[in-house]
Amino acid sequence: MPVKNEPKSTGETQPEMSLGTVDANGQLLCPTCGGVVDPRRTTQAISRKARLVLFCSSGCLRQFLAAERAQQQQEG
Ligand SMILES: [Zn+2]
Repeated sequence: MPVKNEPKSTGETQPEMSLGTVDANGQLLCPTCGGVVDPRRTTQAISRKARLVLFCSSGCLRQFLAAERAQQQQEG
């Protein structure tokens, strides 16, 4: 009887860092500062790539948009 050394799959695939990151506790993280966002309390939201992106504050939202614009200018 052949012994197979199958790698145990834990289903733990690292998702790519994407907008609207969720941490291990299922909490929504602000993409700018990495702080926890309460989706019921924040009013700072934009939609990107068919997803809603929430920010902890207007400052973070503004920073995100500025960074996005700078990136677009770099890429042409
Ligand atoms: Zn933030």
